[in-house]
Amino acid sequence: MIVVLAIDALEFDLVEKFSCTHLKQQFYGKTNIQEFSEPRTMVLWSSFMTGINKEKEVLAGGNQEMWDKQWSYDETFFKTFKNPCVLDLPGYSYDLKVHEKSRLLLKKFFLVNSPEEKEAIRKEYNQDAFVHHRAIKTAFFEALQSNHDFVLGYFSVADVIGHLNFGNTLMMRMIYSDLEEIASKIMVKKCIILSDHGMYGVGMFGDHSSYGFWSTNFRDLGLPRITDFRSIIEELNNVEIK
Ligand SMILES: [Zn+2]
Repeated sequence: MIVVLAIDALEFDLVEKFSCTHLKQQFYGKTNIQEFSEPRTMVLWSSFMTGINKEKEVLAGGNQEMWDKQWSYDETFFKTFKNPCVLDLPGYSYDLKVHEKSRLLLKKFFLVNSPEEKEAIRKEYNQDAFVHHRAIKTAFFEALQSNHDFVLGYFSVADVIGHLNFGNTLMMRMIYSDLEEIASKIMVKKCIILSDHGMYGVGMFGDHSSYGFWSTNFRDLGLPRITDFRSIIEELNNVEIK
């Protein structure tokens, strides 16, 4: 079994700051996403799973349609596996309802003026994110116990929570320690931990940084592009079959 722990907005500097040894595995570094005009979540995961820069195609639909975009099984490297399980990945098996609600609340947060309203929205937004996180976590651990040859679990919590709470170090530390715990329980020979982009602070809030994060328990990948992972994983799969 090959496992990808896909973590939206996992920030290299915070992994270092909080000493997340399980997230770092044996080899880790940044990814190069300079080929993209902006570090956009949908663009980056779409490019990851197809191995092709999909920025133009994803943006062609406009901001709203972008999130509805779904790549077929045949367009992704998942087809090279016999029994893959891909949980909640944007552009593939994404829970549109859950994520749309969080984007709407985020928008609303910046539209309302009173501190009380803002606080109420932040509370609901954070709560939804944690409920969804726990559901994906359960599904991910179930998948790890099954007979899949490939498991990818996508976790949005660091991105969703980070956007409204990045300045809250205590909360970010708690999220990283939860992700660290997830990483510590993946007992397979070939595990890749990958993030689309990181995050930097803008006061209390967070915005996407211009590089991603990777780690593996099998080899040093240097400074890979996110589009390189398709061939890296396909190659691993061939080696596994032999
Ligand atoms: Zn993202």
